[in-house]
Amino acid sequence: MPRSQLELLVLYQDIHLMLQEAEEEKIQFGFSVDGIDELKQAQEELAKNIDDRFLRTYERLKTRYRRAIAPVKNNICLGCFAKLPTSYSTKHHNEQMIFTCEHCGRMLYWIE
Ligand SMILES: [Zn+2]
Repeated sequence: MPRSQLELLVLYQDIHLMLQEAEEEKIQFGFSVDGIDELKQAQEELAKNIDDRFLRTYERLKTRYRRAIAPVKNNICLGCFAKLPTSYSTKHHNEQMIFTCEHCGRMLYWIE
């Protein structure tokens, strides 16, 4: 079953953060970490399946936040803890849509 754009973006962010951490360790400890090439490869593979406009939004948000995609719980954005409007209710969702927080602009995924 193909994954939704949102699922792919969450995976993309996960790999991106792992790469960031590996880079930071390299700077901090002066040695490189195994698996960076594999991570980069996985990131590229994922990017091929993500819509360009979502990737652009993601990259733009990454310049402001460590995590460009934030989870939502009880209708609260866990990126900035703002309450989301009721129009963001999961019943309005579909596979190809991505919601962003009105307050912090992060892309949102629902964990409930
Ligand atoms: Zn927010």
